[in-house]
Amino acid sequence: MSAETFYGPDFNLLSQQDPDIAAVLLSELKRQQTNLQLIASENFTSRAVLATLGSTLSNKYAEGYPGKRYYGGCEEVDKAEIIAIDRAKDLFGAEHANVQPHSGASANIAVYLAFTKPGDTVLAMSLPHGGHLTHGSKVNFSGKWFNVESYGVRQDNELIDYDELRDTAIRTKPKMICSGATAYPSLVDFEKIRAICDEVGAIMWVDAAHFIGLVAGKAIPSPVPYADVVSFTTHKVLRGPRGGMILAKAEHAAAIDKAVFPGIQGGPVMSAVAGKAVALAECATPAYQKYAKDVIINAKALAAALESEGMRAVSGGTQTHLALMDIRSTGVTGKVADERCGQAGIVMNKNSIPYDPEKPGITSGIRVGTPATTTQGMGVAEMQTIASFIARAIKTDDEKTLAGIKSEVHALTARFPIYTA
Ligand SMILES: *Cc1c(COP(=O)(O)O)cnc(C)c1O
Repeated sequence: MSAETFYGPDFNLLSQQDPDIAAVLLSELKRQQTNLQLIASENFTSRAVLATLGSTLSNKYAEGYPGKRYYGGCEEVDKAEIIAIDRAKDLFGAEHANVQPHSGASANIAVYLAFTKPGDTVLAMSLPHGGHLTHGSKVNFSGKWFNVESYGVRQDNELIDYDELRDTAIRTKPKMICSGATAYPSLVDFEKIRAICDEVGAIMWVDAAHFIGLVAGKAIPSPVPYADVVSFTTHKVLRGPRGGMILAKAEHAAAIDKAVFPGIQGGPVMSAVAGKAVALAECATPAYQKYAKDVIINAKALAAALESEGMRAVSGGTQTHLALMDIRSTGVTGKVADERCGQAGIVMNKNSIPYDPEKPGITSGIRVGTPATTTQGMGVAEMQTIASFIARAIKTDDEKTLAGIKSEVHALTARFPIYTA
């Protein structure tokens, strides 16, 4: 099927009216089809989800919540939001769900607003060790408006230092303790974090953006039984539309809902809310549960294959969908590796490793993830091929060699086509 046909009849209208933007849609589809997408936070959402995003639900204002809207004509979109909420509660066994956050960052702002006041102390994973911008970065609202204390990983095993976490919690008495990160390949011990929260009287907040899809697919343990509040994105492993979501214990339901609206957002994006409902139904299927397990199998295989190419997997390997590789043995920085792989059609990102001697703009590491390639149907054999592509690309600055790897990448992705039917 041609790229034009993929977008359907409306695409012809767009092409005539606005050829510039139509061209971007086509070339972006081609880019996704032909390159290797190893960015750990990206995925290919289903055509059913894409259909909701391109729908007339985008036209509807629906400030408020189902049955309590500030606008008329919400009877249809109310149905979509109620379905999304019910599916989220069912899938995760949650007491409350808010499906309106526009993004992961918006969901996190709402969590801060629900439980803290500016100046309060919050304890979160340090950014150089894998935390997210919204976990206290100096350039983010979280670091500007809150006193964010941080914990990190141990230098010897690169796993979360729960003793340090507990000591810091006892010393700084945070209102909230955040766990969850953007570049942590291992599992978080939610039982331990709950115990520390109880000891110091802190709200237990889990930012599950990266791994919630693995929880949805029952491939790793869930934070939901332990946490007061769980925020996440819906577009990473979860494979839904770009957006955010918050799950909470019933006692926090009113605080969370008030924080999202009117606290930080106006009207919800109802097309995305409907897309979240569609994705949540997909996540409840045996096929998705197999997918979630395969994502981890593939990440382990990719990390092991990169290790056999001489790189080192941080934290001793991965138990999730991503691997953080220390590539100092190659003599190349993360920045250069990222650029060379990009030239070879392999899209991933440079990433600081714990205790990285290099600056954040340079780094000693790369982060690779398997959500997208697994959606394409790739398996362990392809992970080994990809590792050899990466190893070859990192080691050369010869444009011809990189172009040669790129044609091998195109041959591989052609065997695992996306958005064809
Ligand atoms: C991706 C991510 C976010 C932010 O999500 P956006 O949708 O990009 O705003 C927040 N927290 C963590 C841990 C993430 O990985």
